[in-house]
Amino acid sequence: MTNQPKVARALTIAGSDSGGGAGIQADLKTFQELRVFGMSAITAVTAQNTLGVQGIYPLTVEAVGRQIDAIGEDLGADAVKTGMLFSSEIIVCVAEKLRRYRWQKVVVDPVMIAKGGAVLLLEESIRALKESLLPLAWVVTPNIPEAELLTGMKILGMEDRKEAARKLAAYGAKHVVMKGGHDPSGASVVVDLLFDGRDFYEFSSERRETRHTHGTGCTFAAAITAELARGRDIREALAAAKSFIQAAIEDSLELGHGHGPTNHWA
Ligand code: PLP
Repeated sequence: MTNQPKVARALTIAGSDSGGGAGIQADLKTFQELRVFGMSAITAVTAQNTLGVQGIYPLTVEAVGRQIDAIGEDLGADAVKTGMLFSSEIIVCVAEKLRRYRWQKVVVDPVMIAKGGAVLLLEESIRALKESLLPLAWVVTPNIPEAELLTGMKILGMEDRKEAARKLAAYGAKHVVMKGGHDPSGASVVVDLLFDGRDFYEFSSERRETRHTHGTGCTFAAAITAELARGRDIREALAAAKSFIQAAIEDSLELGHGHGPTNHWA
């Protein structure tokens, strides 16, 4: 068709969740909701449902690299998100491809452990994530437990969060979004903290009490990615992603027998 408006494109490099709530599936659904053309490179297949992760089957480094090449050499991407990367080998491969295709708007969701305890990133790979991937990150989006594993700090109050954000920025991430959902105080307001290497900004929302939050982290980072792909700056992207995830938690589904998925209808 001629005269088509230019469409924003986003690529997710992440694990597959057969249950449809997290990972690649959450990312693609979110991209579509936000009118962004979604593409994927799968790093690992998980057998998973609302009760937890029953199996993890990583793909070969070659398979991961070739999927990314397929996109880099043809369709291109305005923003890229990384999620579950599982091993150092996959992290190093992804970092090499991000550099090769000069992708700038890279959102690194440092996925490590699923809510049920399944290991989505091998412990020995945390260093690779910090040293190979964070220098390429436009944004890194840790929750408090992930920030603790990445920095080796115990994070209690806001000052600890700020110090952890500074440490992550020192690895080369241009922006750090420290999510407040796992705040140990359980305060009724959730404060996400943005650090741009110079200043801190706070984004607050009311805490929603529900156990159906499977995929929250993936969906939030995917919404940031989609907004960046559409050309928004980081503060606009974060504000929009925050209202998207708030609505997706409010619309979360009581599916299955465990933690149901967040959900968003257009
Ligand atoms: N499975 C995959 C493939 C993921 O990428 C993630 C996301 O972080 C999860 C599971 C964890 O989801 P949650 O901890 O929200 O249940």
